[in-house]
Amino acid sequence: MASIFSKIISGEIPSYKIAETDDFLAFLDINPNAKGHTLCIPKKEVNKIFDLDETTYLNLMAFSRKVAIAIEKAIPCKRVGMSVVGLEVPHVHVHLIPLNSMEDIRFLNKASLTPEDFQDTVKAIKAYL
Ligand code: 5GP
Repeated sequence: MASIFSKIISGEIPSYKIAETDDFLAFLDINPNAKGHTLCIPKKEVNKIFDLDETTYLNLMAFSRKVAIAIEKAIPCKRVGMSVVGLEVPHVHVHLIPLNSMEDIRFLNKASLTPEDFQDTVKAIKAYL
């Protein structure tokens, strides 16, 4: 069965898209730790990040770096943190999270954003890509 993220890639499930290439997609996390929390995924559906072939892994990191640099310019924060977990969705994804404190990387406190907040965030990040 297709993962929830494959359904986002195909458009079956809507998302707030930040960036897309033939092989990768970046979109806002629907339950963000902080405003600007973004997920970068390979379109190839693989469960665990270190099972990716080396080229896809390295290209995912390069894609995530570009998106992270744009997030850091768009969203006021001390830095952008990166995390890979994957316990909820078995489709490789890199979390990029604007950090102001350790709390922001702990996946405990969640930011509550309106649809307008998500749309504004997409616009703000895309302006730096
Ligand atoms: P993990 O698998 O790394 O533990 O977490 C999966 C992440 O995907 C969570 O932060 C969760 O909020 C996010 N997520 C789960 N389902 C969806 C969805 O349908 N759309 C979006 N944009 N994010 C999702």
